[in-house]
Amino acid sequence: MKTRDLLEFVGNEQVAAKLCASQERISRAFAELFSGYNLRAEDVLNEVVHVDQYDGTITVADINFYSYCEHHFAPFFGTASVTYAPGEIITGLGKIVRLVRDVHARRLQIQELMTKDIAEDLVRVLHARGAYVETRAKHLCICSRGPSDDTTQTIVRYGCGSLASSAFSPVSSKIGQ
Ligand SMILES: [Zn+2]
Repeated sequence: MKTRDLLEFVGNEQVAAKLCASQERISRAFAELFSGYNLRAEDVLNEVVHVDQYDGTITVADINFYSYCEHHFAPFFGTASVTYAPGEIITGLGKIVRLVRDVHARRLQIQELMTKDIAEDLVRVLHARGAYVETRAKHLCICSRGPSDDTTQTIVRYGCGSLASSAFSPVSSKIGQ
């Protein structure tokens, strides 16, 4: 569907004609919103520091992200908290933020798979012993249509490697806090 077809679908021909000037702007916005398809985890996790042995874990919490649900083409957004147990290399903290926001969120996504892919990238690219990711998101496909529930959020947790079992402890909701 071309941008003009989309505008005609949303409004009518008159509206579409009026919004013709927006086509270019919409295209540019979409190119940015879906720029994650041009990036791989390897491209952002490219600065590493070697550590002999690191028995602890590192968490980058409350990373804001904006994405689009691939089922409804509607935005979903929220926060991701990313934990990994390094092997022999660690990466910059800002690189973890970019992995979430720039590589994974800027695509058409399913929250469940996005959460899993972020965790698995840390193990695959950084050779981490384990990774655990929790995402909390509001989906406009739930808030603004269908069930029209604008308070609910979806919490997804995924662990792999040495942190695989982390995903199975009880979820505490932050709603209302
Ligand atoms: Zn949806």
